[in-house]
Amino acid sequence: MDIFSKIAAGEIPSYTCAENDRFYAFLDINPLAKGHTLVIPRREVDYIFDMEDEELAEFEIFTKQVAQAIRRAFPCRKVAQVVLGLEVAHAHIHLIPINSEADVDFHKEKLKLSEVEFQDISARIRAEFGQ
Ligand code: 5GP
Repeated sequence: MDIFSKIAAGEIPSYTCAENDRFYAFLDINPLAKGHTLVIPRREVDYIFDMEDEELAEFEIFTKQVAQAIRRAFPCRKVAQVVLGLEVAHAHIHLIPINSEADVDFHKEKLKLSEVEFQDISARIRAEFGQ
């Protein structure tokens, strides 16, 4: 199993933001902003565009619902959706609350958050998601 499959299975701890039987959303451990979330399919697939149409559509709909929950929990101009996937070979969508283009610069210094802050952020998103 790859690292994100282990996270989705609960074998490696993470801060859960939302989940269902096919998809899992959790906080990025090196966030660009409070609420920076990763959304993954539970099924192991590396490249997002290798996903079948139906699975990809469901993935995007789930991601939209998570993005709406993030925006309610952390008001911002928009929630950006970014797909890189060069570091971890398990398809994932970054959801990042943004107010300007600079907020989505992956080269800038990441936030240092405490355990309590990560727990609080994920709890707020879960509550807005309805879980
Ligand atoms: P990418 O593959 O999209 O370039 O980057 C992978 C992202 O996953 C990075 O933003 C990194 O901080 C995050 N990440 C890598 N390993 C872990 C992990 O074990 N737990 C969590 N929560 N995030 C991770």
